[in-house]
Amino acid sequence: MGVQSDLEKTVQIASNDSSENRRLRLESAPKEPILIEARTKLYRRNPDVVAKTLYRALGVCENCKAKAPFARKRDNSPYLKVHHIKMLSAGGLDCIENTVALCPNCL
Ligand SMILES: [Zn+2]
Repeated sequence: MGVQSDLEKTVQIASNDSSENRRLRLESAPKEPILIEARTKLYRRNPDVVAKTLYRALGVCENCKAKAPFARKRDNSPYLKVHHIKMLSAGGLDCIENTVALCPNCL
């Protein structure tokens, strides 16, 4: 179980409990946050797919057709994010046919 889904589950349990029980637990709960280490799996993205998708978009969001609202500080290129239409985790392919360049509003 992931840390996030674990939190959601325990928040639900806490929400369903009485205000008095929550107050009692909060009185004795440590206030210093506990740092945990988590492992995560990431897909290695093909940089050519990202570059080609951004080139195809020409600075325009491929969803709402608006011009990218600002430029990247690094190289002044239009700020669009390359997004997979079918997520890689759902079996989507890392190819330009499965990507769109999106503005921050459409992400
Ligand atoms: Zn957009």
